[in-house]
Amino acid sequence: MARYTGAVCRLCRREGQKLFLKGERCYSDKCSINKRQYAPGQHGQSRKKLSEYGVQLREKQKARRYYGVLESQFAKYFEMAEKKKGITGENLLQILESRLDNVVYRLGFAVSRPEARQLVKHGHFTVNGNKVDIPSYLIKEGDVIAIKENSRSLTKIKAVLEQTEGKVIPAWLDLDKNTSSAKVVKLAAREDIDLEIKEHLIVELYSK
Ligand code: SF4
Repeated sequence: MARYTGAVCRLCRREGQKLFLKGERCYSDKCSINKRQYAPGQHGQSRKKLSEYGVQLREKQKARRYYGVLESQFAKYFEMAEKKKGITGENLLQILESRLDNVVYRLGFAVSRPEARQLVKHGHFTVNGNKVDIPSYLIKEGDVIAIKENSRSLTKIKAVLEQTEGKVIPAWLDLDKNTSSAKVVKLAAREDIDLEIKEHLIVELYSK
């Protein structure tokens, strides 16, 4: 399935909540979900009661859209989560949080996950000193993520850092602003993840 290239605000309206895909705009009055609190499209305003399957499906789509992950990749993450020790739903969220593009976003090196994805693809980051330009790269405990030295002076990167100044960095990441780098203290636990996702519904969906 191809990556969604349409208006991302429609995705938030479809899920009925903010997915924070546009950076600063998401926190302003311009956010589309504030203006139009119904799903997009011709039948968006007609309320339908979702079936049990529909509720589970929407939860999976919401998680996928938060992290910008394709269907097939999401299914692979679920398989990985099932194989890991512990609670499958929590493992799944931990894997999603470990994606390099998400970590870049969490660190305030990008204003949104879609922007983080693009900046990673453009090769602006290193992991343990080596350039990594794969957004889905999964970081591990102890890894050091940094903005590449010659990218730090770029106007774009400077503007992003200015915009995200004051952002709360999750406790599982230890950011050093002076070196624009951060160490992964531990992988994210469920309590570290502030997203409104009912992961048990996703597990139920894949267990059918
Ligand atoms: Fe979603 Fe951000 Fe668009 Fe609001 S502005 S609808 S939060 S992407």
